[in-house]
Amino acid sequence: MVNTKLQNKLRKLTAQAITQYAMIADGDRVMVCLSGGKDSYTMLDNLLYLQKVAPISFEVFAVNLDQKQPGFPAHILPEYLTQLGIEHYIVNEDTYSIVKEKTPEGKTTCALCSRLRRAILYKTAKQFKATKIALGHHRDDMLETLLLNMFHGGQLKSMPPKLVSDNGEHIVIRPLAFCAEADIAQYSLSKGYPIIPCNLCGSQENLQRKQIKMMLQDWHVQFPTRIASMAKSLQQVVPSHLADNHLYNFTDITTTGEPVKDGDIGFDEPQLVNSANIDVSTGTQTKQAQTSIEFLEIT
Ligand code: SF4
Repeated sequence: MVNTKLQNKLRKLTAQAITQYAMIADGDRVMVCLSGGKDSYTMLDNLLYLQKVAPISFEVFAVNLDQKQPGFPAHILPEYLTQLGIEHYIVNEDTYSIVKEKTPEGKTTCALCSRLRRAILYKTAKQFKATKIALGHHRDDMLETLLLNMFHGGQLKSMPPKLVSDNGEHIVIRPLAFCAEADIAQYSLSKGYPIIPCNLCGSQENLQRKQIKMMLQDWHVQFPTRIASMAKSLQQVVPSHLADNHLYNFTDITTTGEPVKDGDIGFDEPQLVNSANIDVSTGTQTKQAQTSIEFLEIT
């Protein structure tokens, strides 16, 4: 039976993310990238629902890239999408052979595979006149990426909820930016989506990402509010309290003789307020902290 409580929660969070970042505008044609995993099924589900209730009009169509991995069940998505009755395209491109041929033995194939996939999706978006490309990354993907970049890349950088593609031609959106992976997993189970396993290519998931995922899960068990607080922190960046000269002009700061509103309190310990308004018992954000849904009302 479909978990309607989770369904409502995920739909609301998706609507909030879409509104907060102006992801979808009237007249948009949204290309939903469907991999056959729980995240992209949930994203499609949410977008189709919001399409019905939103006071704006936008089109949704689905695209799946068949990368010709051995054992890929090519019939599953066309059958699912036909049954849903929505516009969809299956793009057949044998990136599997290219990746196998070009990647030295023992090296991870994911980097090249992702680059190829991205290029194909951009080409497809152009071909089918999409104005937005929707990807199914969720809140936990964003936090994992943030920590990956901090731990291994020396950068404070995550996955943005909305961005301009590398070639400058497309707007990429992540409507599940506020949704927790655990909720998506539970919801997906209740919906009984025909999941296509993501490891058909035989490649291992990035080990560093795997370790960070485990660390976050461990933290969540020990400190239920931590993940929600970290996610909120991505929306409350204070450049003057970091150390990037490009982001904040430290060189030219001068005294004003006036107290600085929200300024540093000299040598005090940082004051840790629950600015994310997180319910300590559940680790979720309380109502007061949630952004109002301006144009997408959920019933
Ligand atoms: S796991 Fe396989 S299909 Fe997925 S990105 Fe890596 S190489 Fe590509």
